[in-house]
Amino acid sequence: GTADLRRLLSEALDALRPVAVERRMTLALDLPEVPVFVPGDADQLTQVFQNLVDNALKYGRPDTPVVLRLAQGQPPAPAMIGIAIVDRGIGIPRDHIPRLTERFYRVNAAESRNRGGTGLGLAIVKHIVNRHGGVLDIESEPGEGSTFTVWLPLAAGSAAEDGNVVPLRARVS
Ligand code: ATP
Ligand code: MG
Repeated sequence: GTADLRRLLSEALDALRPVAVERRMTLALDLPEVPVFVPGDADQLTQVFQNLVDNALKYGRPDTPVVLRLAQGQPPAPAMIGIAIVDRGIGIPRDHIPRLTERFYRVNAAESRNRGGTGLGLAIVKHIVNRHGGVLDIESEPGEGSTFTVWLPLAAGSAAEDGNVVPLRARVS
C-alpha cells in the first residue's frame, strides 16, 4: 500500500498527547504544505513513530518540547524523506549509539527499568524501517538531547518528490 505520511504522523502524535501532558512536555509537528506519500504499511509505520515519540517523551525532560519535522534527502538520495524526532532529554553516550537497536539493549538498565518498557522498541523500529527500504539515523549529545531520523523512499508521484520539502540540516547515512 501507500501511506499518507502527514496524516499518519498527526495521528501518531495525537495518540501520545496525553502522555506528553502527563510528562509536562509539548509535542510539535512541523509539516510541509505538500502531500507526502511513502510506499508501505501505514500501521507498521505508525508503530515506528509512536515508538520514537514514546522514547522522546520517556527520556525527555519536563518543560521541554519534542519536535517532529520533515526533511528532503540531499543528493545522492533526493527521493528520500527524512522524519526527524528531536528531543531535549538526557541524550545517549556515543559508545552506546551503535547498540541501541539490539533487542533488550538499554543504556542504563536500572534507570530504564524505572521508566518502564522492555528494550524492544528500537529493535522493532529498525526492523520495520529496513523492511520499508529505509534507514534509521541516530544523533545525540549527552545532556543536550537526541535526534532520531527515519529515512524512507518517497512514493512515485508524491508532491515532495519535486523538492517541495525544504531540506533541513538532516543528512542521509
Ligand atoms: P520499550 O521501547 O520496549 O518500552 P525502551 O524504551 O527502554 O523500552 P528502546 O525503545 O528499544 O527500549 O530504547 C532502548 C534504549 O535506548 C532505552 O532504554 C534508552 O536507554 C535509550 N533511548 C532510546 N531513545 C532515547 C532517547 N530519545 N533519549 C535517550 N535515550 C534513549
Ligand atoms: Mg522505547
